[in-house]
Amino acid sequence: MSHASPVLSVADLERTPPTGTPLAVLGHPISHSISPPMHNAALAVMAAADARFATWRYHRIDVPPEELPSALSRLHTLGFHGLNLTVPHKILACAHVAHIDPAARAIGAVNTLLRTADGWQGFNTDGYGLATGINENLGLALTGADVLLLGAGGAARGAAVECLTRGCRSLAIANRTRSTVDTLIHDLAPLVPATTTLRAVDPHALPADLPDGLLVINATSAGLKPADPSPIDLSRLPRPKAVYDMIYNPPQTPLLRDAARLGLPWANGLSMLVHQGARALALWSQRDVPVSAMQQAVQRVLGGV
Ligand code: NDP
Repeated sequence: MSHASPVLSVADLERTPPTGTPLAVLGHPISHSISPPMHNAALAVMAAADARFATWRYHRIDVPPEELPSALSRLHTLGFHGLNLTVPHKILACAHVAHIDPAARAIGAVNTLLRTADGWQGFNTDGYGLATGINENLGLALTGADVLLLGAGGAARGAAVECLTRGCRSLAIANRTRSTVDTLIHDLAPLVPATTTLRAVDPHALPADLPDGLLVINATSAGLKPADPSPIDLSRLPRPKAVYDMIYNPPQTPLLRDAARLGLPWANGLSMLVHQGARALALWSQRDVPVSAMQQAVQRVLGGV
């Protein structure tokens, strides 16, 4: 399966309307997205068992943020069955869906849209992808865990809601900008179970009472660029249980290099990418999804094979 699916615009699609059952990821920029080969690999396997899926095709569409509302309406008219949303659309799209899943409403962001008769229904599968990826790669559950979450942007919001709804024991959130994490803590307050403690911590002045055995989750974008610093100094923490970084490209960020140097179990966000995608495809298709085909496809693309 080729990674070279073209980057389309909505105008391209109006000139040459898609056939069959179209799906797509919308972002700006979008040329880096590896979701098309991942989903199309799964659809090829599904089509071998059920010919209905032979006409399903997943595209990537560049949509600038100011054009998102009209793009959602035009893609609905063009017959798109499902959409994924990535940076910078996940929060913006919430105001332009006809229906929203309660968990996505709590997060304040959607990454998956399902066609309904009167518009789009919004879901957020990122938290499921994170929890499943952590379990698969590190053998750990969020339930009962002591979590140190780095970041307070869109991905961190999804991660925090997932940690709370799965009943983590404690959740400490560290973010570079204090006001953003304070807003997040305020928004999360209604979701905190009686048995869970939630607090904001300063990434550069970590409190002395953080517990041993933390599960550290990086939801910042620090590490995407080669010169980025690690968002936290792992050696200043009581020995963590493991470190999960949502970033998967590069495959080993400075944070993960530090984890490896300290002998800690670590994993990157590739498993999250695969499982959030698998959950989206299950929502669209109402079928079991061949997750291993998706895993192989992303490894092939990132490995440059
Ligand atoms: P946002 O832009 O919404 O948030 C970015 C966060 O990173 C903010 O908390 C910001 O802090 C922090 N940050 C940025 N630069 C630095 C830095 N140099 N040092 C410390 N903190 C920094 O992005 P998202 O939440 O959407 O995405 C975050 C990351 O998660 C991205 O790398 C993205 O690729 C990844 N991701 C991976 C997924 C997967 O499937 N594996 C799915 C979704 C996201 P501040 O508030 O101070 O600006």
